[in-house]
Amino acid sequence: MRFSEIMGHQSAIERLQKAIGSGNIPSMLFAGEPGIGKLTVAFTFAQTLLCLDRLATDGWAEPCGVCLACKKFVHKNHHDFRLIEPLEDDKGKKAHFIKIEQIRKMQEGLIFAPMEGQKKVVIVHPFDRLNMESANGLLKTLEEPPGDVVLILVGENTTMLPGTLLSRCVKIPFHPLSFSQIETFLTAKKQYSVQEARLVTAMAGGRLASCLRMDVETAKKREEQMHALVAEDTLLHYDRLFETVNAHARDEEAMEAALHYLLAWFRDVLVAQATTSPLDASWFVYGWRLSEIKTWAGRMDAQEVGAFMAQMQAIQQAQVRNINRVLSLETLLMKLRDKIFP
Ligand SMILES: [Zn+2]
Repeated sequence: MRFSEIMGHQSAIERLQKAIGSGNIPSMLFAGEPGIGKLTVAFTFAQTLLCLDRLATDGWAEPCGVCLACKKFVHKNHHDFRLIEPLEDDKGKKAHFIKIEQIRKMQEGLIFAPMEGQKKVVIVHPFDRLNMESANGLLKTLEEPPGDVVLILVGENTTMLPGTLLSRCVKIPFHPLSFSQIETFLTAKKQYSVQEARLVTAMAGGRLASCLRMDVETAKKREEQMHALVAEDTLLHYDRLFETVNAHARDEEAMEAALHYLLAWFRDVLVAQATTSPLDASWFVYGWRLSEIKTWAGRMDAQEVGAFMAQMQAIQQAQVRNINRVLSLETLLMKLRDKIFP
């Protein structure tokens, strides 16, 4: 992968390019939500540092992709590169923590000069899985990093890391891509239609890694299930309504997805209400359900839609405080039912 092929993360990449250009590369901490591309950027950065015949394309340093170092890196057998992750057991189950023994073994390897080029690169992923012991072990390398070693810590939440460790790293924040950035990426990379890209992006929660893993068929099935939340058949029949509530309130993740679906649905309803010209499916998250969205738009006014959306957001925020999910989703759908079928 080259930097120019990475979607988004412009400011992070610019900072890395500056560091490459200056030749002075500190220990770095890539922090941001999971599945948004931090590790891809870290791997590209590592490959660029190890490449023996680096390219300069439009002022950006890029790995050449063809030198011996690049080939070894891609085939995961470059001697000067280490990826430290929680170990897997025989059954493929990952350990919860990165163990101190892994850190020590890596440190023993750092004593020797690079075998293939100028640098050695170590990626620790995810740093959230360092326990106190392994974090302290790693601190030794961060306090006195050998001049030819670049350490990159990649993860989500820095609040659990010791301050001593944080203060030794330059923090590079990563932000999620916008839905439209992901849609553009999917139409180019997977040759999806605009509508398919939108469906997959919405169903995978707008996280690039999940979007790339999800195929259109799975997204369609998932959307069918989510759509039950606003289907007339659900709202008109108590038994179907309770079934739907129980399915979507079963755990925090399902509930979050349900609220996400509902919010985007009502956002579409607002768009339909606000537009006087003929509606174009491409303006809507759920463009393939345009006629239904129009029906909803005629059922309530913008103020009422706003009030429902505010309620959904309130439930979203209360999720963190462990509210009764079933009760709050049930109340919400009952209110929708009463509004639509008084
Ligand atoms: Zn190369």
